[in-house]
Amino acid sequence: MAKYDVVVIGAGAAGLSAGALLAKEGKTVLVVERSPHLGGRALAVDDEGFKVNLGGHLIEDSGSGITKVFEHVGKELVHGVTSREMPVWDNNTRTWGSIRDRNPDKAELKKVINALTNSTWDELEEWDDRPMREWMAQHTTSQGVYDLFEYLAVLECLTDEWWDHSASDNLWVRKMHYEEKRMAAYSCWPGQGWDGMWRDLVDAIVEHGGEVRTSCEVDRVVIENHRVIGVALGRDGRVVPNDWEAGEVVETDCVISTLPVWNVLRVVPEWELPDWYANQIKYLAQDQYRVSWLNVYMATEEPVTMFDPKELSTWLATPHSPTPGYMYDQAAMDPSSTPAGIHLYCMGGVIPGAKGRDRRYLADMFDRFEAGMFEMYPGLRQHVWRRRGLVFDPPFGVVQKPMLVGKFRPHWRAPNVDGLYFASETFRSRGVGTDRAARAAVTCVEDIIGHRIPTFGDGWRY
Ligand SMILES: Cc1cc2nc3c(=O)[nH]c(=O)nc-3n(C[C@H](O)[C@H](O)[C@H](O)COP(=O)(O)OP(=O)(O)OC[C@H]3O[C@@H](n4cnc5c(N)ncnc54)[C@H](O)[C@@H]3O)c2cc1C
Repeated sequence: MAKYDVVVIGAGAAGLSAGALLAKEGKTVLVVERSPHLGGRALAVDDEGFKVNLGGHLIEDSGSGITKVFEHVGKELVHGVTSREMPVWDNNTRTWGSIRDRNPDKAELKKVINALTNSTWDELEEWDDRPMREWMAQHTTSQGVYDLFEYLAVLECLTDEWWDHSASDNLWVRKMHYEEKRMAAYSCWPGQGWDGMWRDLVDAIVEHGGEVRTSCEVDRVVIENHRVIGVALGRDGRVVPNDWEAGEVVETDCVISTLPVWNVLRVVPEWELPDWYANQIKYLAQDQYRVSWLNVYMATEEPVTMFDPKELSTWLATPHSPTPGYMYDQAAMDPSSTPAGIHLYCMGGVIPGAKGRDRRYLADMFDRFEAGMFEMYPGLRQHVWRRRGLVFDPPFGVVQKPMLVGKFRPHWRAPNVDGLYFASETFRSRGVGTDRAARAAVTCVEDIIGHRIPTFGDGWRY
């Protein structure tokens, strides 16, 4: 079998971005994915006529990240429906309003935006250990401005208390969105659908001479004398789960693992890494740091929202559960994802990761969360289809609290193993979700090829 320049483990946003970029750079590359589906945590599959997502809802790239990855490899990430306003549920008054009702003082807001856009990326890096409010308090005392930034933190990072919104991670995204789109938060639905996006990247890999194998599990990264020498695949035709027969070994001296912190040590032997580095991974992998929530899809024959259906709404608590969350009309974003004439609502209520294995708590919270949704959107009582899902294993990501971000995350290059890289948004990276994963891939690819890819300019990188 041929030796590959690089083997990429995982065909999610990071793995497909890395594979496409490397193939474009002329590297021989193999992407290996254990699932039959593409997209990893952002896969989209059919369920009784509805296209449901495990993860991806909206892309938060104002232009310089995953969009540019597509552009660089000869594809287009179509920016479909964008959400521009933000309906907000006030649980104290039990009414809907807009984030604008909180009336951020325009002059104060401008002061903060100026301070942010005048800050360098390096200056923001210094804020990994402190909350966003502390940074903002240097520039304003306006509660309305705090509210605007903090509601966005709830939506993007799923942290709910002001002291838990990391300054560096949140401000990094705000600065990018203000500079690139002149708005506080930019998000869009991918015009080709989530599954279409991943197929486009596979096409780019193949068109540039790379390969993608799905339904193929990597058993372990093979390391000898602190150097990567290959990747051992699971043996085809395994019947008993404790089958110990060796599978094929693919030769390579460079591996990019895109596995998140909570399962990466299943394929990268822990004893090959320094203990402090492996411990950093295990620390972040704890249940309490998993961004978890109750995910509910409900389909109705009549619309249930009282504002523009293309807007994403949010709240800090529902009438019956202390769950911050969001809701959007997926049919308005992508009519092809539901049967004709049916509305498909996707809603989430955040729970503490530490509760993710407590089935009794979860059953009770699902009931309370839904009861709250029925009060907030009475039309949902008439739903004709429902699908509950628990976001815990896998979770959205590692929670972006101070001291759990930036330099507090493991570096993308294994400190003592030549040729071993980690392109994962749960490792050192910035951004939100799939865009963050794609940016992590850019970082690793540039490190491997030894130069910056001009398409990405020299703005936002580590
Ligand atoms: C419910 C939910 C909602 C979300 N909402 C959004 C959103 O609205 N917008 C957004 O941008 N992001 C969202 N995210 C986050 C986003 O899905 C992730 O950040 C992103 O998909 C991570 O991509 P990744 O490639 O880094 O990792 P993953 O997607 O986790 O990819 C890792 C891949 O590795 C594969 N793998 C694992 N073990 C092996 C092995 N041994 N051998 C081979 N392959 C293996 C997995 O099957 C997987 O495909 C959401 C996530 C969830 C769970």
